[in-house]
Amino acid sequence: MITADYHVHSEFSSDGKSTMEEMINKGIELGLKTICFTDHMDYDYPCKYKYEFQLNTEDYLKKLQIMRDKYQSKIEILTGIELGIQPQVIDRMNELVSKYSFDFIIGSVHVVDQIDPYYPEYWENETEEEGILKCFMAIKEGCESFKGFNVCGHIDYIVRYAPSTKIQYNGYSYPYYADVLDEILNTLIKYGKGIEVNTSGYKYGLGHPHPKTEIIKRYKELGGEILTIGSDAHLPEHLAYDFVRAENLLKEIGYNYYTIFKEGKPIMKKL
Ligand SMILES: [Zn+2]
Ligand SMILES: [Zn+2]
Repeated sequence: MITADYHVHSEFSSDGKSTMEEMINKGIELGLKTICFTDHMDYDYPCKYKYEFQLNTEDYLKKLQIMRDKYQSKIEILTGIELGIQPQVIDRMNELVSKYSFDFIIGSVHVVDQIDPYYPEYWENETEEEGILKCFMAIKEGCESFKGFNVCGHIDYIVRYAPSTKIQYNGYSYPYYADVLDEILNTLIKYGKGIEVNTSGYKYGLGHPHPKTEIIKRYKELGGEILTIGSDAHLPEHLAYDFVRAENLLKEIGYNYYTIFKEGKPIMKKL
């Protein structure tokens, strides 16, 4: 049974909608044993957008310590971060992860060629296939050039922003991208990194987590074993979203364990 949510946002994320304390109380109510906050830090996030995604790391760590002290008898609270990977900020990310000791670091690509695919402008000058491929290429390059993370975040989440609903709802063709996806997975495995199973895909009605089932299967086939489970919740009601469904999916694929991280070290937990 999955009792740890390893992708949770709070008021320390620019797009956070709830406080740490609200998330923690919901986690206790749900019977979670562990909640790992992973607020956003996206260095050099384009300033044309309304959010900045700059984390006040000192305040964040202080608040986490206060929360840990207050709730230690009820739930384990861990310190994570979701780093937005872009090629020009590798040095700054390395500096950050060597300065502070995080329990867990998600490496995510949220910006491709200075554009956030969340916004329609990303899709204006290319086909959906090209847009998706470009994002996978950026993830591949990110995983090759930055090593300071534990799992690669929501690998195929870009599909949910593709303009056509056909692509969004299971329409994207895994075989079309299989080469670049294999390169991503092989790179992750080679460097001892994991992937996350991000259940926000279920929340968006896609019928699969991010990444989709074929990719989670392929990671296993290639020898990957490190899987963290995260809801990517920005609201308490989305905490541990569809974790039972994710657990069933993983068991069907043949996984017996999921992973949690403490002080950067993976710990395998029985599903
Ligand atoms: Zn993300
Ligand atoms: Zn997130």
